[in-house]
Amino acid sequence: MADFGPVTCAGCGLLCDDVTVERPNGDVRLQPPCRLGVQWFSERLRRPAPAPATISGQPADVQTALTRAAGLLRRSRRPLLYGFEAATVEDARAAVALADRLEALIATESVSASWTGAPAVPLRGTSTATLGEIRDRSRLVIVWREDPETTHPRLLERIGFEGGASSRLGAKRRLLVVDDRETTTARRADLRLRWARERDLDALTTLHLMQRRLRPASDVEGELVALLEHINEVPHIAFVYGGGLTNGAGGQRRALALHELVRALCHERHVVTLALPRGTGTTGAQDVLAWQTGYCPNVDLSSGHPELATATQPLAADQEGVDVALRIEGAQARLPAGAAEIALCSAPAGADVDVSIRTAAAGVEAAGTAHRLDGVPLTLQAPLAGDAPTAAALLTRLLAEIER
Ligand code: SF4
Repeated sequence: MADFGPVTCAGCGLLCDDVTVERPNGDVRLQPPCRLGVQWFSERLRRPAPAPATISGQPADVQTALTRAAGLLRRSRRPLLYGFEAATVEDARAAVALADRLEALIATESVSASWTGAPAVPLRGTSTATLGEIRDRSRLVIVWREDPETTHPRLLERIGFEGGASSRLGAKRRLLVVDDRETTTARRADLRLRWARERDLDALTTLHLMQRRLRPASDVEGELVALLEHINEVPHIAFVYGGGLTNGAGGQRRALALHELVRALCHERHVVTLALPRGTGTTGAQDVLAWQTGYCPNVDLSSGHPELATATQPLAADQEGVDVALRIEGAQARLPAGAAEIALCSAPAGADVDVSIRTAAAGVEAAGTAHRLDGVPLTLQAPLAGDAPTAAALLTRLLAEIER
């Protein structure tokens, strides 16, 4: 097969749009090199095409599967739309329109784990910046309990660390990692602070109190004093954070503490945050939800108008009673016993799915729009366009079937 590029890689939320794919002797190589990007393209270029659709595991044609899915959704008392890790903005738009018609619960966070209560960003707001602004201004980048060298391999290059030729700050910038694990990113750090995750909330609130001079440095352990000294040395700082801070019980309280600290620091210097999303499509789906309903990341439309969903156990039968789940370009979750599942996915749908329809993989077989982790919209190309429909097209047909 021929090489192609430059194209946008959707292997992670960085959406690098300078990627050329080479395929010597059946291998997959990327320029610029990226291990995760190779894996992402290899999975999509090499896997055999499954059946266009299945019903209870048996091959079916797409129209019959759509009719079956429409019937399940029409009869549902409590439908859930979830996934979106590999969805485009167009997919998310069509999903919100269908969720509105069904008065469904729509979730862009993982429904396999506990939700963490009222989300911090809508409550408090956040200071953000593009990758280019961080590259050109941030003299100190603090990575908080994340390992972007593994999950977003070109992040440090894109924000001007070693390997990135475009940083005008060069050696003046420093990488500080807060993590007690031995990660690839931590090994690259100029400065490291190690404490257990359980101490994050205390650390963030203590830093906030120290910054406001409400708690003397003599009263606080040396690591936090050192961190605040590093912060106070430079005019521009970026905090990089993600699920390492926000997942699990109390996660949104920790996120709130980070954003409150950033707000306090912004009185004297320029401080921004950069969130690492859990999936490539997550940022775009959350932006669509916020524009169209006013809320994100999880919205309940069952009352006929949007409400922020703040359940902490989203799939617990006694809390939500989800009876039909429609998965859109995402990983399979463990659903409540007896719930039916419909999957519209380019990846294999998984076991025990009642209805599945294979979609075209955005960025390889289908074009679309995705939002980079800093919110910048980018085009995904279709270098090997195929016959499979996009999730957006299927969702629009589902809506038409239900309204018929
Ligand atoms: S960093 Fe992410 S988007 Fe960029 S090439 Fe690697 S996998 Fe693709």
